[in-house]
Amino acid sequence: MWDVVVVGAGPAGCAAATLFAREGLRVLLLDKSAAPPPKVCGEYLSPGCLPILERIGALKSVWDAGARPLYGMTIHTAAGRTLQAHYPHGGNLGDLPVHGLAIRRSVLDPILLDVAVKHGVEFEPNFQVSDLMWEDGWVVGVRGRHRGRVTALPGRLTVGADGRNSVVARRIGSVMRHRWLDKVALVGYVTSAERAEDVGEIFLGHDRYCILNPIAPDLTNVGLVITRRDFTPTTDASRLLLDTAATLSGLGDRLAHARPTGPVRCLGPLAHRGSRLVAPGALLVGDAAGFLDPFTGEGIYAGLRSGEIAVQCALPALRGRDVAHPDLHAYAAAWRREFLPKWRLCTLFQHAIRRPPLAEWLVARLGRRPHLTTILMAAVGDLMPAHDLTPLRLLPRLLTRARTFA
Ligand SMILES: Cc1cc2nc3c(=O)[nH]c(=O)nc-3n(C[C@H](O)[C@H](O)[C@H](O)COP(=O)(O)OP(=O)(O)OC[C@H]3O[C@@H](n4cnc5c(N)ncnc54)[C@H](O)[C@@H]3O)c2cc1C
Repeated sequence: MWDVVVVGAGPAGCAAATLFAREGLRVLLLDKSAAPPPKVCGEYLSPGCLPILERIGALKSVWDAGARPLYGMTIHTAAGRTLQAHYPHGGNLGDLPVHGLAIRRSVLDPILLDVAVKHGVEFEPNFQVSDLMWEDGWVVGVRGRHRGRVTALPGRLTVGADGRNSVVARRIGSVMRHRWLDKVALVGYVTSAERAEDVGEIFLGHDRYCILNPIAPDLTNVGLVITRRDFTPTTDASRLLLDTAATLSGLGDRLAHARPTGPVRCLGPLAHRGSRLVAPGALLVGDAAGFLDPFTGEGIYAGLRSGEIAVQCALPALRGRDVAHPDLHAYAAAWRREFLPKWRLCTLFQHAIRRPPLAEWLVARLGRRPHLTTILMAAVGDLMPAHDLTPLRLLPRLLTRARTFA
């Protein structure tokens, strides 16, 4: 009997496993792959990730592995407007870091797994979880296929960190698609792109956008997000990525000499959410709990942070005789408090991506109000809770505008 069985060795699973193990619990971490598999990702870590990486003991290894600082975002609109948006410095944000990081997932994920194993987590690769074990309405472990055999693994707490197609999420509830967000992403690396070196760049179009992340010297992560109706399944995803990106204002010239290196991966639909975050004896972290859109790049932060919150909320019950249902409800409440305001902010950005005149208005307004841009960047960078934006009455005003442009 394990204290905690964590399904999925991505950022969310590794963070939760590490922190549970640090508390002296017996933790088993499962992944269906032999090692963390390749991910479709823009490979940007928001500034809010850095203190968490420090707390789990991974930040030094991330720097040593060649992570590059990113000091903000430059946004290019369809009409040719540009907004330089930097993360805030000091002030009432104290000495929190003022940059994010660019690092390849093929480097980051193994570092996080290594940290978990060093903290005493038992890692079982090639274990594909297919079901949960239930007893009297409680989840009491997982069942799955390992080395060709069906194996049962009992645990007092099961953590679903198995990403966007989470089996755990489907077994404790259902996975819901977003009402109107129906996007597909194409992500790949190119060399010889003209790009900024220390900020990410976003190019906006009509219901589409493309992000350039300078991941290494002369290597750029290019991520294009389009609607599903604009996506034609193709055998040449590199061509589709570069040709579609070149239609965005200002980007064609920048990618004129770009050469794809490695495969371009496609993924969609992107937005989803688990109908339940907890069941007696089980909870969801990271993408298994939900994901909206990569525009504001908080997926890795949400994975790491939800892992932390899960440990804080479940620990008292695990230290007692049993995993009590009410404590896991505390996790669900904490998750909503922490992540839903940011989801609302991101949904507003999605309205602007759908309506170019709204995007133009917003970018022009933020250009005239640097103070507002700084506060917004603090929320986007996960340096302050997004609900702190409410006093600025920014969100209601944006909503009114969104209706005007509807
Ligand atoms: C196009 C795109 C761009 C993005 N760009 C960014 C970005 O720049 N910055 C950012 O912060 N976020 C970004 N994200 C989001 C980010 O990639 C995810 O939010 C993050 O990977 C979630 O981490 P996770 O640990 O929850 O899940 P994952 O990283 O997906 O890990 C899940 C793990 O579970 C394992 N698993 C799955 N099913 C099973 C099973 N049945 N049994 C056992 N193991 C299983 C998998 O093998 C995997 O290792 C992007 C997403 C998309 C789609």
